[in-house]
Amino acid sequence: MDRIYLSPPHIGTLERQYVNEAFDTNWISPAGPHITAFEQELAAYLGEGVHVAALSSGTAAIHLALIILDVKQGDEVICSSFTFSGSCNPVVYVGATPVFVDSEPVSWNLDPTFLRQAINDRITKTGRKPKAIIVVDLYGNPAKLDEITAISREFGIPLIEDAAEALGSSYKGRKLGTFGEFGILSFNGNKIITTSGGGALVSTNREFIEKARFLATQARDLAPHYQHSQIGYNYRLSNVCAGIGRGQLKVLDERVKARRANYEFYVKNLKNSSNFEFLSEPEGSFSNRWLTTVLIKTPGLYPEKLRLALEKENIETRALWKPMHLQPVFKDAPYYGNGLSERLFNEGLCLPSGTALTQENLGRIVAYLKAVR
Ligand SMILES: *Cc1c(COP(=O)(O)O)cnc(C)c1O
Repeated sequence: MDRIYLSPPHIGTLERQYVNEAFDTNWISPAGPHITAFEQELAAYLGEGVHVAALSSGTAAIHLALIILDVKQGDEVICSSFTFSGSCNPVVYVGATPVFVDSEPVSWNLDPTFLRQAINDRITKTGRKPKAIIVVDLYGNPAKLDEITAISREFGIPLIEDAAEALGSSYKGRKLGTFGEFGILSFNGNKIITTSGGGALVSTNREFIEKARFLATQARDLAPHYQHSQIGYNYRLSNVCAGIGRGQLKVLDERVKARRANYEFYVKNLKNSSNFEFLSEPEGSFSNRWLTTVLIKTPGLYPEKLRLALEKENIETRALWKPMHLQPVFKDAPYYGNGLSERLFNEGLCLPSGTALTQENLGRIVAYLKAVR
């Protein structure tokens, strides 16, 4: 049987043409017309008057957001605990300490109640406000962004929206990645669209985005020679990768439809089974359903057992993200919550969610899911 992957790249028809164009015009560097075009096309897609800097990864985008917000040694940054390490590693790059906040049960994202508790407690304990809040839209599902942006404003703490998994999702009609002072996107190979590797920083603040482009290209002063007045980074997306991104952007809406159809298929075929519980879509939320996730409710059937059983059938599934406050590397970081993300990690599994899955593939997966005890 052919292997069914969790979330493989799915290339459309125009990517190769854009890449050929980059080769034909010899723009093979982190400069060139595809980069500018990709930034403009992404900004147009997201709306809300945003500006975009195309970068080498989503992690780089968070790093630059923290630098531009002047997060430094000794500062604290609040971050969703239930996420991929790329969300919070950059907090450590700038010498700050992450403070982890647990999930709420509706979207599995940052819990506004624990967020408020964390801010108040950090102010009491350290005498200072946390310097930023990183909210993640996990698996493409919008966080409670109304409440979270209101708390960010109330305390005057800037918000970074990690929408790495959520391009194409929206909340109350507004595209994810456009909430907060900064949004970040990822075009890693497993994401809903890919540039092979890449990311973007999004903001309505033009100066912030210009600063990000400057820092991402080694912070060169305006001089005929190489002169630097501050530390820079090599974080720009290449013109070749931006060409792939332009082609992928053209099929993004189709990809969202296909991911949502995967989710619908799983729900329709497994809803009568009491073994699996799905995350629903609350009023106002529109998810790109990047990955379909299930909670396993059968006694004695746990995620690793199901994963290994499906692996034998050459079907790739994956555990949910292991919360950051449980990671050995972050064991000393403060945490606020009631253990929900840990319970989700212990009960959940990500199902194959690629956009090139056939009905036959999906049928095969569902048949095994029903059969495993
Ligand atoms: C993928 C991902 C990132 C990092 O993006 P890269 O482009 O891989 O650096 C950050 N946060 C989340 C939630 C992600 O899924």
